[in-house]
Amino acid sequence: MRLAPDTQDTLGFAVSLVNSSPAASRSGLDEIATVEQLGAFLIGWSYSGRIDNNATELDEVRQTRAAIQSLWRLGIDDAVEAINGMLLESRALPHLARHDGLPWHLHATEPDAPLAQRIEVEVALALVDVIRSGETHRLRLCEADDCSGLLVDLSRNGTKRFCSIRCGNRMNMVAFRDRAAGDHLVRLRTSPSGDRPNRAVSALRAPGPG
Ligand SMILES: [Zn+2]
Ligand SMILES: [Zn+2]
Repeated sequence: MRLAPDTQDTLGFAVSLVNSSPAASRSGLDEIATVEQLGAFLIGWSYSGRIDNNATELDEVRQTRAAIQSLWRLGIDDAVEAINGMLLESRALPHLARHDGLPWHLHATEPDAPLAQRIEVEVALALVDVIRSGETHRLRLCEADDCSGLLVDLSRNGTKRFCSIRCGNRMNMVAFRDRAAGDHLVRLRTSPSGDRPNRAVSALRAPGPG
């Protein structure tokens, strides 16, 4: 893996932020809908710097969340344009910083810049690292039918397909049911009583993954 450790951390943060939205979250609800929920989320990621804990900040972070989500769906040229735009708009000034016992890592905003702006710039810089390292194939969309979650696959073999264990289990269950339906059909076809296989054919679903 050629990505810097702080890049990997930021990608994990970005995915977790986007996957708090209703179309990807565990609850099916917006899991960053209140100032309190945002606060709890940030504590989970040990996010440092200015945190206002107010409605304006929540609004801005939710807008940034949507902007990050859309980045994952862009082709590389469009993504580059969007990322450069984000860095320019925030007047990002990359520099090394060290705080809270962390090793030297990249910052590009002041600690007192608005939270949403710091998140956006941090994610943009992580994506700069991903793109210039030729690792964009590690950024993917969840393959579950009903999920719009993002995933970042930093594993060696790079075969991750789902944003969460929950999505993986759900899609495995669908594949299992499809296989079971297929078995049922085979049994009907070979059954000595000659049951009517046509009914089973019409009930057979399209084969699922795996
Ligand atoms: Zn830092
Ligand atoms: Zn998913």
